[in-house]
Amino acid sequence: MDWRTKLLNPSPQARRDYTSLVTPVYRGSTVVFPDQASVVDSWQQARDGYSYGLYGTPTALELAARIATIEGAHETLIVPGGQAAIALVYLAFCKAGSHALVPYSAYGPNKAIAEGLMRGLDVEVEAYDPMIGAGIADLIRDNTTLIWCESPGSVTMEIQDIPAITEAAHARDVTVALDNTYAAGVLFDAFAHGIDVSMQALTKYVGGHSDLLLGSVSARTPQAFEKLGPIYQQLGLAVSPDDCSLALRGLQTLSVRLDALERGTLQVARWLADQPIVSHVFHPALPDCPGHDHWVRDWSGSASVFSFTFAEQVAPEQVVTFLNALAIFKIGLSWGGVNSLAVVYPDVERPTQDFGGRIVRLNIGLETPEDLINDLSQAMQAVL
Ligand SMILES: *Cc1c(COP(=O)(O)O)cnc(C)c1O
Repeated sequence: MDWRTKLLNPSPQARRDYTSLVTPVYRGSTVVFPDQASVVDSWQQARDGYSYGLYGTPTALELAARIATIEGAHETLIVPGGQAAIALVYLAFCKAGSHALVPYSAYGPNKAIAEGLMRGLDVEVEAYDPMIGAGIADLIRDNTTLIWCESPGSVTMEIQDIPAITEAAHARDVTVALDNTYAAGVLFDAFAHGIDVSMQALTKYVGGHSDLLLGSVSARTPQAFEKLGPIYQQLGLAVSPDDCSLALRGLQTLSVRLDALERGTLQVARWLADQPIVSHVFHPALPDCPGHDHWVRDWSGSASVFSFTFAEQVAPEQVVTFLNALAIFKIGLSWGGVNSLAVVYPDVERPTQDFGGRIVRLNIGLETPEDLINDLSQAMQAVL
């Protein structure tokens, strides 16, 4: 063989029996088959064998299998981000003429799909009150194919009565999907409470360090998984094995991070609840949070993101002054990493409430809680 050919046909030289604690980063698009008869093109690689890197290399499949085990799912698909996971669920369970329900407290870009992509595809997505509980039965129509839940809701933190919603949905054969990002797939057992499809932005707690974007979609039953798979294949939702490797590393420390984040966050939230210029603290473990009783009944812990509102005497401009005066808290979107973040939501749209630019969302990181409290305190002084 010419050296040029040799460069491209390296028969493996190193021993292949290296057993590491860590899943290797398998990069690759093409899968090599032993012969023509073995060629497959299946998205269901865990069952049919590897076919193409688009459906994940062993690094992605290892991550998928671990998320499935932790959530108690039949199987899980790994996708490029939480938003891709939301889109996949919509497209797998809705078709032209379908009706779907989404809580008005859902993650903003979920509602953007509802009003954008879905409307264009002739799917009617109706917003509902996240506290509706069993009353959801009245909104289910003959053509309802999907009910979204998100608990707690984004920014306003409503904890939903998931068992009541899934019971009403299943009586009419409707699939219920949950955005389970806040729970990291562990603080709330989605499938034990009747959910059919649980998705997460792995970007948040599983990644845990603000350095990757990934999502997961977990199906309780083989039937739900069979609906998701072909759409996943058609959309070509490929993920980077490097990101999957980081997410696998994130899983190893998820429990210690969640424990520390819960403690620090409660300390900061309780301090805020005692401040005279704070009117409400929306933290699932505190009684001011809508649906707190559902949290007590159904959940095993709380996480790092919550919101609070300033009292009426604080003008919206002063809320912005407060935010800009923070030093340790960074101003930024997303959450679930190791840094504390703050952001004002000047125009949260809720049909029955007007927050008047006074609602602030915090993500508590792994800094010492006393330092975070001092930072909030000095920024409040800048307002008063
Ligand atoms: C961040 C987030 C998402 C989207 O995740 P990305 O990975 O950023 O696309 C979805 N749902 C919730 C509740 C989120 O907070």
